[in-house]
Amino acid sequence: MGRKLMTILLVLSLTLAGCVLPGKKRQQYQAAYLDVFDTVTSISAVSDSEDVFREQAEQIHSQLLEYHRLFDIYNDYEGMNNLKTVNDSAGAAPVAVDGEIIRLLKDCRDYYELTGHAVNVAMGGVLFLWHEARTAGLEDPNHARLPEEAALREAAAHTDWASVEIDEKAGTVYLSDPRLRLDVGAVAKGWSAQRAAEKAPEGFLISVGGNVCATGPKDDSGTPWVVGITDPDGGEGYLHTLYDTDSAIVTSGDYQRYYEVDGKRFHHIIDPKTLYPAERFRSVTVICGDSGLADALSTALFILPQPEGEALAKKCGAEAMWLDTEGNRFYTDGFEDWICQ
Ligand code: AMP
Ligand code: MG
Repeated sequence: MGRKLMTILLVLSLTLAGCVLPGKKRQQYQAAYLDVFDTVTSISAVSDSEDVFREQAEQIHSQLLEYHRLFDIYNDYEGMNNLKTVNDSAGAAPVAVDGEIIRLLKDCRDYYELTGHAVNVAMGGVLFLWHEARTAGLEDPNHARLPEEAALREAAAHTDWASVEIDEKAGTVYLSDPRLRLDVGAVAKGWSAQRAAEKAPEGFLISVGGNVCATGPKDDSGTPWVVGITDPDGGEGYLHTLYDTDSAIVTSGDYQRYYEVDGKRFHHIIDPKTLYPAERFRSVTVICGDSGLADALSTALFILPQPEGEALAKKCGAEAMWLDTEGNRFYTDGFEDWICQ
């Protein structure tokens, strides 16, 4: 979470300053929640009634909370089969799941093919080892260590989509490889934000851990929302601020979740080819009509060489910006149309 979210919240707060619009009683409101996807969710809109806004925001929040529970791989919830249930039943039995799990996993399978296998949510075994090592390393920095190479390789042998059996008719998912695990962290926030945006009223800005989605301009005169891209080196400034009226803006960065081993930073985006954190970029931002796709693409473009990523963005009708480890910036042709500053 950390600074990216704080930055976006700051931009949202800045847009809240002086929030009574001239000549009208309509006001900009914001609601923030901390119980969805282990991150900060903020919902903003201009409304003439705080009560109406709160009710609308609460509806969006409860939809996101439902997705959070369904896609959780660490916790069980009473009366619900979620992705943890699916993982726990690997090699044992198909699990009857909510249709939204099937819908998400089908999209994930498409993203896997689309990204040339860079984004693979069936890589949960590998991601779990990094998650464990990071959690332990953050708790006890003096003994921080990397996952065992042999364990990474062993886990990487169990990441094949052929073993993810989605039976739409029966409404079940079965992991036929007992060692395969799903982890949808690369797409769940953006995907869920997209579903929420599709149901939300016009003129809302929904940010789930910095996966930002606008459902229309923020007022009747067409004023766009302004979204900041965090500078990975911190400080008050942004890499850019961007205008947004009806698109998703998603950033993947090395500063979002990481730990240090012997003074070197190891972040959370894992290159399936090396099984170690991708090393080309500090931050990649994607702008795209669909927030689920934007989330998958931001992770993929963080991993792939820039020219490959640019070709992929173009194929998907997305715009992107890369910041590499030497401070160089790369942009797709249409990105500048979105830049506010
Ligand atoms: P994002 O911040 O959207 O780039 O997603 C990062 C999260 O996605 C990580 O915390 C992991 O749970 C997961 N992840 C990391 N690398 C990959 C990958 N190559 N394929 C699929 N999921 C990944
Ligand atoms: Mg992503």
